[in-house]
Formats: sequence, structure tokens, C-alpha cells
Amino acid sequence: MKFFTIQTFFALVLASLAGGCVQERAIAPAIQLYAMDCGSIDVDDMKSFSVDGAFAGQSYALVVPCYLIRHAEGDVIWDTGFDQSLADMPGGISGGGFHSSMSARLTDQLQELGLDVNDIEFLAVSHSHPDHAGNAGLFKNSTFIISAAEHAYMFSDEARDNAESFKAYAPLEDARTIQFDDEHDVFGDGRVVIKKLPGHTPGSAVLLLRLTNAGPQLLTGDLITHSAGRRLGAVPVFNTDIEQTRRSIAAFEALAEAQGARVIIQHEPKDFEALPAFPAWLD
Ligand SMILES: [Zn+2]
Repeated sequence: MKFFTIQTFFALVLASLAGGCVQERAIAPAIQLYAMDCGSIDVDDMKSFSVDGAFAGQSYALVVPCYLIRHAEGDVIWDTGFDQSLADMPGGISGGGFHSSMSARLTDQLQELGLDVNDIEFLAVSHSHPDHAGNAGLFKNSTFIISAAEHAYMFSDEARDNAESFKAYAPLEDARTIQFDDEHDVFGDGRVVIKKLPGHTPGSAVLLLRLTNAGPQLLTGDLITHSAGRRLGAVPVFNTDIEQTRRSIAAFEALAEAQGARVIIQHEPKDFEALPAFPAWLD
């Protein structure tokens, strides 16, 4: 018969809870936000980024980040950037006034933290466009969290017809999935909350994080595209529902105000650069 000391017992409990990284997890803050570089989009003319043409003739360099949120109870990926095969094309690709490129693969960046796609417990995307769901299919063993409206949209016949973008997330059709109507609190502690604020696509969402030291953070998805657009409340022409987007922007700004949240506009280079450079994190 084998006897355990009480210390051994707690060490075993901690090890089973933390997946073996007892020491790392025990000293780490409760939650960490990592911003990874998952591409960039140089736009020749920002005309289509506002229905009133406010940005006509302006070029802009957008960033395409992906985020890892490390919580004591699991890792969450929020948005997956461009399909990482783009990183194998040194010149990137051009078309329609957009030049897209990628300097580092998402999986290589995760590897810097000793993580494999199969270590990620939860995958969530703000919406299913190719600059947000480009690598989503790699996370088919994670639990996929998505609004019911976006799930219906991304697996519609119309979406299936768009073979290239559908292929990037098609494996998620068989993934463990949590579908929500208005919002989903990932760990039930209010620290990682996904909120549907539709209009860019039928079920597009934003992410509210409540960090211990840095406080509340609101990640926009594509509800807002860049700082100049936020100042004007701009709605891009390529949104699925312009009036719904206007209501969502108003709700988002009210939420940011009520929470005292820092707003992180995902495609805005200044907001990306203001975050700690990977592999450093915000906590
Ligand atoms: Zn986007």
C-alpha cells in the first residue's frame, strides 16, 4: 500500500488541473493576452471602408493579428489570421487593390511558447472571413465557440461555394462546438466574454477581456477597422447589414464606456504596436 503526504496529494491535484505545468501556472497571472502577427493588408484605396466614401484616395497598411489568451483553465485562440501558407510566398499576393502578406506562421509562433494546435482548448473567431478564420481548421480538436448566427452563415450553401475560404475552416464542422445567441462567458468568471455585435457578418462578435493588471480590454473584430473609421463611426460597404452595424457600433461604444475598457481595433497598426511585442504578453 502506498501512502501520500498531504503535500504530494495537493501537488498531484495541481498537476492534474494545470496539465503538468504546475510551477509555471502557479506563478503566472490569472490571465495573459498575447498578440501575434498573422499577416498584413496594404490597401491602395480605403474608399470601400466607409459607405460615404470618407476615405477615398487614402492608402493604409492594416495589420492582421491573432491572439492567444492563456487562462488558468485553458488556452483560447481569438482569430487565426490569414492561411499561414501565405507566409511561404515571400512577395505575398495582390489583387483588387489589396496586397496581403504574412511574415510568420501562426503554428511557429505558438511553438515559441511550447504550444501545439492540439494544446489549445478553445477556438473562437470574430467572424469567418479569410483574414480571421484562415487557420481555423487547424484547431479542429479544440472546442469551437461561435454565435449560432455566424455558424449558420459559415456553413451555408453560399459559404460552401466559396471553396477557398470555406476550406480554411471546413474541418470545424465536426469539432466540439458551443453556439451562443448573444454572448458566451468562456470560463464563467467574466474574464473572457465573447459578445455578438453583428452587421459586418450575420453573427460577427467582439471580445471582452478583464485582465488583472491592465483592466478591461475590448477587441473589435471587424466591427471597427481602423482609428480614423472609429472617429467617424464608419461602416464599410462590404458589411452584410449596414444598419445592424450602426446599432452594433453604438452598443460597442456604450459597452467600452461602461466598462472603462481599452479598445483594441484589431486591424489598426497603432493598436497592435501598443501591445507587448510577442512573446511578451499583457496581463
Ligand atoms: Zn478583417
